[in-house]
Amino acid sequence: MAIRNAYLNGIYEDLLGRYAEQHEFLEAVHEVLETLVPVVESDPRYEQQNIIGRMVEPERIITFRVSWVDDAGKVQVNRGYRVQFNSAIGPYKGGIRFRDNVNLSIIKFLGFEQVFKNALTTLPMGGGKGGSDFDPKGKSDGEIMRFCQSFMTELSKYIGEDTDVPAGDIGVGAREIGYMFGQYKRLTNTWTGVLTGKGLSYGGSLARKEATGFGLCYFADAQLKDNGMSFEGKRVVISGSGNVAIYANQKASTLGGKVIAMSDSNGYIVDENGIDYQVIREIKEVKRARISTYVDYVPSAKYVEGCSGIWTVPCDIALPCATQNELNVDNAKSLIANGCQGVFEGANMPCTPDAIAAIKGAGLLYSPGKASNAGGVATSGLEMSQNAGHISWTFEEVDNKLKGIMETIYAACASAAEQFGMKGDIQAGANIAGFLKVADAMLAQGVCY
Ligand code: NDP
Repeated sequence: MAIRNAYLNGIYEDLLGRYAEQHEFLEAVHEVLETLVPVVESDPRYEQQNIIGRMVEPERIITFRVSWVDDAGKVQVNRGYRVQFNSAIGPYKGGIRFRDNVNLSIIKFLGFEQVFKNALTTLPMGGGKGGSDFDPKGKSDGEIMRFCQSFMTELSKYIGEDTDVPAGDIGVGAREIGYMFGQYKRLTNTWTGVLTGKGLSYGGSLARKEATGFGLCYFADAQLKDNGMSFEGKRVVISGSGNVAIYANQKASTLGGKVIAMSDSNGYIVDENGIDYQVIREIKEVKRARISTYVDYVPSAKYVEGCSGIWTVPCDIALPCATQNELNVDNAKSLIANGCQGVFEGANMPCTPDAIAAIKGAGLLYSPGKASNAGGVATSGLEMSQNAGHISWTFEEVDNKLKGIMETIYAACASAAEQFGMKGDIQAGANIAGFLKVADAMLAQGVCY
């Protein structure tokens, strides 16, 4: 759909011609540009200095071959990526994703979103993202270690504690970070905070593992309260059962909600008595098994094959925490018909554009992932601070800072939306608040930096 501003629409049309096959990237850019119309019209410098045209083009894209040897002695080849999108407000920062569907479009969309998200945290972090079309599922520990070492052997040339600090994402947890950190240290003969999400015994931060899920619930709680509601007594549905979903379950339950459904990419479980996050943690983090095995722990629960059916389970609060475009307009209509009151994104771009339009159009509360899942990267920023100062904070200290940051992000989004005449529109507010910070720095630094 055309954007109601000639400058912004021209930029989008140009991208469409140049990168027609990069669907996820185009979707992410369109979503942001649509909400920036009043901002661009409020200050001629954004167009004069072509700030938007510069923001949609990554500063640097690195693609590389990752060859590794599998357990059968066969040489395998995967593709590796690092997109260093924008360093106006700090070193590039953003996760690494290992999944078979990873391509340049997905890494660019994630990197673009990361620029706005990191700006919202108020910490000095630019945006980047990386990954590979390698899928850790079904691989042995040895295979994963050899892959991570090979991936880092090339990536190490482009990152550094003051240049680019990667972290985890889908398919990259503590195990993969550990193998990559070890290889970076070996290659450079330095011990630096070049990665976040590290284990506690070698520079990791307490509460980093929990941070994205906890932060999502702190954000949702702030938005609910601002609208006279809370988690108390609410039926909560969470898609996914990975890092974000597990700890979103823990915090939503602590805040008084009852999590009745969770999923993985094969199917979903429903447990009307409430899903204990520790059972999911045991299945997913310890055993690395499928969510279908939940019924072995809780025989009264139900497992249903096929993941998108989870949105037909009646709930008050929906937390999509799995992957991009997992919640389409039909799913949104099911949620609305069943009386859902709010959709708060834990994953990056989980709702399709028409799903978002339906959710907002029906008057449900909605928060975009770039705001409500920013707790992960914010706590990565806190891990960097602890590494730089050679100190470590307690779980409570980090958790309190995280809560404060999420409440501040919510307030910043709400206030930016109101300032530009879109009171209550947290989606627009997130884009505007993130944009203003990065644009300001880019204006100050001149064109050729
Ligand atoms: P994980 O790899 O830990 O978990 C991903 C989960 O989603 C797995 O349970 C996976 O199931 C499931 N899944 C994948 N595709 C689908 C699908 N189509 N439907 C249902 N479930 C699916 O990843 P994270 O929890 O770290 O990341 C989840 C999302 O949150 C991503 O969008 C990520 O970019 C975002 N995010 C993560 C942050 C973090 O700190 N980890 C920070 C900010 C955002 P299976 O086991 O079958 O693959």
